[in-house]
Amino acid sequence: MSLTFQDASARVDAFISQFKEGYFPPLLMLARLTEETGEIARVIAHQNGKTPKAGEDAGDLEMELADLLFVTICMANERGLDLERGFERMMAKIERRDATRWTKKDEPQEPADRAAGEGAL
Ligand SMILES: [Mg+2]
Repeated sequence: MSLTFQDASARVDAFISQFKEGYFPPLLMLARLTEETGEIARVIAHQNGKTPKAGEDAGDLEMELADLLFVTICMANERGLDLERGFERMMAKIERRDATRWTKKDEPQEPADRAAGEGAL
């Protein structure tokens, strides 16, 4: 399956547009976004040592991330924003800003004494 941002946006819009209520108002969508973020946090907590409460399942991270994506797409659609353009702009920003921030896999490891600021002379 290959899904573009445009495909996802159109599919969400087709679903929402069949209902008279349409998209949630912006503040309610923001509440939904926050709610889904909390659900992601709950799954991550369960995967990292927190025991689920009685009757609570461990959750499904893939579904919770997709829930967050759905709400994100709804927010973009309601505002007439282009998520593909936004994604491209965001990636260009981090590819420029963070180009040398992390250790690249194909670079030799810097010896510990150099990394600590010693041995420069
Ligand atoms: Mg959810």
